[in-house]
Amino acid sequence: ATWNRDGGWHDGRVHPFGPIAMSPAAAVLHYAQEVFEGMKAYRHEDGSVWTFRPEANAARMARSAQRLALPTLSEEDFVGSLRALVETDEAWVPAYGTGETSLYLRPFMYASEAFLGVRPAHEVTYSVIASPAGAYFTGGLTPVKLWVSEHYARAGEGGTGSAKCGGNYASSLAGQLEGIDHGCDQAVFLDSATHTYIEELGGMNLFFVTSDGRLRTPALTGSILEGITRDSILTLAKDLDLQPEEDRITIDEWKDGVASGEITEIFACGTAAVITPVGELRWDGGSAASTAGEGGGEVTRSIRSRLLDIQYGRAEDTRGWLTRLA
Ligand code: PMP
Repeated sequence: ATWNRDGGWHDGRVHPFGPIAMSPAAAVLHYAQEVFEGMKAYRHEDGSVWTFRPEANAARMARSAQRLALPTLSEEDFVGSLRALVETDEAWVPAYGTGETSLYLRPFMYASEAFLGVRPAHEVTYSVIASPAGAYFTGGLTPVKLWVSEHYARAGEGGTGSAKCGGNYASSLAGQLEGIDHGCDQAVFLDSATHTYIEELGGMNLFFVTSDGRLRTPALTGSILEGITRDSILTLAKDLDLQPEEDRITIDEWKDGVASGEITEIFACGTAAVITPVGELRWDGGSAASTAGEGGGEVTRSIRSRLLDIQYGRAEDTRGWLTRLA
C-alpha cells in the first residue's frame, strides 16, 4: 500500500514477490526513514493458521512510525495485510508437526518519495513479505556465546531508542562483527550513556533466572526494544511460580552472579529464535563460564515449551494471544 500526504493509505494489494522499482533519490536510501516488524504464522494440527499477539506488533509499529515521522497504519489494516498475504497462498505456511517451522512475516514501511532535502517524506510505502522459516539457530538448543560490546551501543535514549527502525540494526552490526571475531554468536549491548547496564542483543531480549526463584530482565529504559516475547514471558512467569522482575542490571552483576551461582540460567528471547539458552559470556580480557548445559536449564526449557505450546495450539490460549489468519 502507498500513503501520501493528500490521499492517506491507498492501493493495498497482493502481488508476486519480486524486485521493487525505486528512484535512487528515494528518501529511505539516504535518511533511513524506515520501520519494520517481525512475526510468524503458525500452522495448528487442524490445519488452521494463526499469529501471536498481532495487536502488540501493530501498536509497536505505530510507535516506531511516530518516532521516525512516518504515518501510522491502523491495527485493522495491519492485521488485514497479514491475512491478505497468508490467504493468497496459505500452502506457504509449513505443515504442523514439522518441528519449529512457521511462515515468517516481515511488515515494513519506508519513505519512497524521491527528493534530496531532509524532511519527512510525503510518500511512503508499506509492504509485507513472507518466508517459510525453520529454527533460527541451526545448533538447536546449543547455548549461544555472547560478546560484551563495550565500544558500540545499539540505540540511544532520545535518539531512535526503542523504535524498531533499520538504523538501530545498522548501528548494531559493528558490535556483532566484533563478537564474531572473538568466537561469539551475538553481541550484548549496554546502555549508551554509561556502558554499564545490560540492554539486549542485536535481535533478542535477555532474561536471568536466579537461585531464589526470580526471573529478571532489564527494565525498558527507552533504548531497549519492547519485545513481545519478553512481555509474554513476564506474564507466563507467574504460572511457573517465578517472580518476574524488571530492573536495571549491570554487566558486573552478570559476571559475578554466574561466578557465585546466584544466576542459575540465562536465556535470550524473540519471535525468530523463540528462546535460546545463553552459555559463555566473553569480553575484552575475560570470560564467564557457561551456566547452561546442552539444551539449556530447566526453567529455560519449560518457558520455551509453554510458549511454543500456545503458539502451535497445543495448550489452551487462555489470554487471547492468538489471532486466526487462515
Ligand atoms: N530486541 C531486538 C533488538 C529485536 O530486534 C527483537 C526482535 N523483534 C527483540 C528484541 C525481540 O522482540 P520480539 O519478542 O517482539 O520478537
